[in-house]
Amino acid sequence: MNPVLEVSGLTKQYEGFRAVDGLTFSLAEHTATALIGPNGSGKTTTLSMLAGLLRQSSGTIRFSGSGKDPRSAIGFLPQYPNFFPWMTAMEYMELAAGLSGLGGREVRTACEKTLGFVGLGDAGKKRIGGFSGGMKQRLGLAQAIIHRPALLLLDEPVSALDPAGRREVMKMLKELGESTTILYSTHILNDAEEMTDQLLFLRNGQLIEQGPLREVREKYGGTGYRVLFDDRKAAERFAGAAPWDANTDGSAVTISGEAVSMEELLRFAAEHHEDITDIGRASVRLEDIFMKVVEKP
Ligand code: ADP
Repeated sequence: MNPVLEVSGLTKQYEGFRAVDGLTFSLAEHTATALIGPNGSGKTTTLSMLAGLLRQSSGTIRFSGSGKDPRSAIGFLPQYPNFFPWMTAMEYMELAAGLSGLGGREVRTACEKTLGFVGLGDAGKKRIGGFSGGMKQRLGLAQAIIHRPALLLLDEPVSALDPAGRREVMKMLKELGESTTILYSTHILNDAEEMTDQLLFLRNGQLIEQGPLREVREKYGGTGYRVLFDDRKAAERFAGAAPWDANTDGSAVTISGEAVSMEELLRFAAEHHEDITDIGRASVRLEDIFMKVVEKP
């Protein structure tokens, strides 16, 4: 599949400090890529360079259809979008439409449609000053997609939202992902797990791991088992008695698979006389992979 974006050797050097250090990756069309890394690892700097807001010190950024004005090909949601509180949502959208190269009669309809898509259909005439954090985040998303960009860059799109707001925005992003290529940074790894074709792990400005979620899982996940019980106490008794590295998580026990085979586990479970509701392979959580990747030497 044709890449929408190809980045090679992307570097941002500040005086005496390299915030981004030689990133090389590409984004295939209509895929979602999560940019993950600890605070200060260079996520915002990377996205700002890709969005054209910050000039790279070296390296190349190539968009497909590079003849086009990148403003019409890219949508960007900054981590902390700035709004004029005295503007109405519709006025702000019209401004954003103009900045991204839209003009003419279709602007008003596009603004209305986009506000409707992000769930602000009734708020067009309201002043942004009275918006909640969640509404501002939606408006930020709306301005990023008003011109139907081929590439959508999002800096921590859900981290300021409560769980319900995160759900809704993730749902919108999934829908947008059907027809758009998305690169987003996040530290909410549960969300990344839900909507990721490719993972990029940054540490100290460098890409220390990248690949499809499945491959990264296989590489860092190793093997393991998850045993489910009816209640937490039973899980704790089982984990306490198990001769292997066993951790409880509510009424589930996870066992690192390196030291034990499924046969041994089943034998132990049979002898243990606890009501087990399920035994299966553990699917490793992205959070655990993240810890392994960032701590790797
Ligand atoms: P992240 O988004 O992963 O938290 P950032 O991209 O914001 O990381 O920052 C990466 C590093 O670059 C940080 O250590 C930050 O302090 C540094 N940095 C950001 N902007 C500047 C700047 N203008 N001058 C010097 N250092 C900067």
